[in-house]
Amino acid sequence: MEHIFILILFGPPGAGKGTQAVKIAERFGWKHVSTGDILRAEVAHGTNLGSKVKAVIEAGHLVSDELLIEIMESVFRLNDKVKGFVLDGFPRTLKQARELDKMLIKLGQKVKLVLALDVNEDELVKRLIKRAREQDRKDDTEEVIKNRLVQYHNHTSPLIDYYKEQNLFKEIFGEGTIEEIFEKLCSVIKK
Ligand code: AMP
Repeated sequence: MEHIFILILFGPPGAGKGTQAVKIAERFGWKHVSTGDILRAEVAHGTNLGSKVKAVIEAGHLVSDELLIEIMESVFRLNDKVKGFVLDGFPRTLKQARELDKMLIKLGQKVKLVLALDVNEDELVKRLIKRAREQDRKDDTEEVIKNRLVQYHNHTSPLIDYYKEQNLFKEIFGEGTIEEIFEKLCSVIKK
């Protein structure tokens, strides 16, 4: 693999990572990887893996690091021709971040940028409840939403310091229209 752009789109659930990741992937011709989408597809297809993770996802807890690492290894293996990746929802723990670094070293690659969407907590809850109604996501009920935010604060937010130490972390304010936020993200990526 030549040097490719590995972007981590970072932020709490409801920050708009999924929406923006799709648009960024389209604009730059990169591969969008949403581990949440991958896991939900496994559940929908009733695979072995899907039946293992269904209850965990529906409770708003995190799926095991081992499983996520396996999934990401196969994502990189199966996409060895792409020019870049937009990672959406991975890594979510320090263990995952460290394992990602190791995986990338083996491939002669590294994380290029971690771009975070900053959205205040009240707005997050509002958006998640709205999405629950619109998409019928079982993990968007009020108590599960609370759980997902707790998981974010306990396990995922420590990654901010991990990436700040490597000078990879940039943050933009994630409230406003989808297009406004998208253009702000694009301008940081282009820098
Ligand atoms: P998302 O669509 O990114 O919010 O992910 C939905 C759910 O999938 C999460 O609440 C977790 O249960 C699971 N999940 C997705 N990505 C990960 C990850 N990197 N580590 C652990 N669990 C994950």
